[in-house]
Amino acid sequence: AFIAIEGVDGSGKSGVVRHLIAALADRGHDVLGTREPGGTPQGEALRGLLLSGADDAWDPRAELLLMTAARVQHVARVVLPAVAAGRVVVSDRYAGSTLAYQGAGRGMAERMIRDLHAAMVDDLWPDLTLVLDLDPAIGLVRSRRRLAVDAIDEGRFESLDLPFHQRIRTAFLAQAAAAPDRHVVVDASGTPDAVQAAALAAVERFLKR
Ligand code: C5P
Repeated sequence: AFIAIEGVDGSGKSGVVRHLIAALADRGHDVLGTREPGGTPQGEALRGLLLSGADDAWDPRAELLLMTAARVQHVARVVLPAVAAGRVVVSDRYAGSTLAYQGAGRGMAERMIRDLHAAMVDDLWPDLTLVLDLDPAIGLVRSRRRLAVDAIDEGRFESLDLPFHQRIRTAFLAQAAAAPDRHVVVDASGTPDAVQAAALAAVERFLKR
C-alpha cells in the first residue's frame, strides 16, 4: 500500500509520519518511511537545491520540474518496488503538495501539473492520503517556534505570507473533497498525541478494509 501524508507547514506532519512508521511496524507491517521532495539520493540533492536560497530563487516552472524530477526518481526507484514487494510505504508529502504549493501557491496551472503527473509517473496516486488540516496561522506559529529552537535552515517557505499558506490549505481540502475515496482529512489542531492517534486510526481503518 502507498500512503501519503500532506498538510500545511506546522501541521505536525513529521511527528505523524514518525508515529505511523513506528506503530505500523509494531503491528507487524513491513513499513518503508520516505519523503518528498527526496526519498532517493538524487531526490535529496534536488531537495537541497529547492529548499536553499530566497523565496523567489526559483522560477515556479523550474521549481515544478525539479519537484517532478525528484518524484519520478522516487516513484520508479523506491515507491513502486516497495509496493510490489508488499510493503506499506508512508511518504511525508507527495504530488498533492505539488498541486498545493506549485499550483495553488505559486500559480502554475492545475491542468498542466496533472498532465505532467500523468505523463511522468503514469498518474500514480497514493491508495490513501491523509490531509492534516490546520489553520495555517497556527501552523506558522508552530513552525517558527520550531525553527527558532532547532535553528533548522530549511525555512525559506515558512517566510511566505499567510494568504499563500491559506491557498495551500484550501487546495488540500479541495483535493480531499474531489477524491473522497482515497483521502482522509485529519483535524490537526489538537495535541501531537491526539493528532497522531487520529492519523493512525485512519490508516488502520484503511489497511483493514
Ligand atoms: O514537508 P517539509 O516541511 O519537509 O517541506 C519542506 C518545505 O518545502 C515546506 O516548507 C514546504 O512548504 C515546501 N514544499 C513546497 N512544494 C512542495 C513540497 C514542499 O514548496 N511540492
